[in-house]
Amino acid sequence: MVDMKKIVVAGAGGFIGGHLAKELLEKGHQVRAVDIKPLNEWYQVFPEADNLVLDLRLKENCYQAVNGYNEVFNLAADMGGMGFIENNKAACMLSVLINTHLLMAAKDCGIDRYFYASSACVYNGEKQTDPDNPGLKESDAYPALAEDGYGWEKLFSERMCRHFREDFGLTCRVARFHNVYGPHGTYDGGREKAPAAMCRKVIEASVTGNKEIVIWGDGHQTRSFMYIDDCIKGIWDIMYSNIEEPINLGSSEMVSINQLVDMVEDIAGIKLDRKYDPDAPKGVRGRNSDNTLIQKYLGWEPSIPLKKGMKKTYEWIREQMEKDQKNKKGVNKYNR
Ligand code: NAD
Repeated sequence: MVDMKKIVVAGAGGFIGGHLAKELLEKGHQVRAVDIKPLNEWYQVFPEADNLVLDLRLKENCYQAVNGYNEVFNLAADMGGMGFIENNKAACMLSVLINTHLLMAAKDCGIDRYFYASSACVYNGEKQTDPDNPGLKESDAYPALAEDGYGWEKLFSERMCRHFREDFGLTCRVARFHNVYGPHGTYDGGREKAPAAMCRKVIEASVTGNKEIVIWGDGHQTRSFMYIDDCIKGIWDIMYSNIEEPINLGSSEMVSINQLVDMVEDIAGIKLDRKYDPDAPKGVRGRNSDNTLIQKYLGWEPSIPLKKGMKKTYEWIREQMEKDQKNKKGVNKYNR
């Protein structure tokens, strides 16, 4: 039985924030859900939450968001997949205002616990040049050579959390997410990440009969992907742990992008002609999560294999695309 707490979820209109708000409500907590997007664009809306539309880059909005509450999960950021972060570095860096002002408000309003969503993009690029990445350890973030723009903002914000803890006694927890995927997230429009993009492209191919799929880079680049349910459990475990330093939260089941496409083709029961685009944004060559620390401290291990999670994600995206098609929303998505 958990004590009922008043918890703010910043970025609750987004993918992970929406799932987290749902989980916290199910656990019996009072939730204030905050996002900059109009309510009708949130992936999940819960009428029982206190839903606020606020730009959290603004200091006064952060004070309004946290006032009267006990804890804060900061999942708000201007972000997306490689296609977005490589072309929107300034916008990504401006998310520094969200975390800075939320931390100030948390300190001044007497918040008990604060969670910050960092990223594997903080890791030194020179340790990610080989597709056969042995797994990034937490110490591999330094010496610092983070992903330009987005990664530097995350690294700076991690340190801001650390110094609010050291100097002001604010209890902060920081998780470095490795790619998270699942239903109720972005699958088109330019911010989508590889798993959702692959599902969408395979669905488009099977609907239109155009059997070609475009893959960014040569397809040999590697990543690991964590299903959303594992991520939510990990966020919870880290928030209520004694772990003061940033810690990896990700899967260590590394696959190449080609293997990810194989998997989606299997799920769809289709084989496509692959066309590789060497000029498209690709990110680092190889990235994986070393889970030694999280296993040692929390015994946390992802429970959902990639194929199973991808199947659920694929089904959800297919349903959404069918609905989009029926509603004739915007352009004909299958012909783009
Ligand atoms: P998302 O884009 O779905 O959610 C982020 C939400 O923040 C969006 O709904 C957006 O509208 C909101 N937001 C942006 N600017 C805001 C502002 N000024 N004020 C209020 N809200 C604002 O992304 P996500 O995948 O749910 O990611 C959540 C967090 O996890 C982010 O901090 C992200 O950087 C981090 N992260 C995610 C992944 C991943 O694979 N999804 C990987 C590493 C780190």
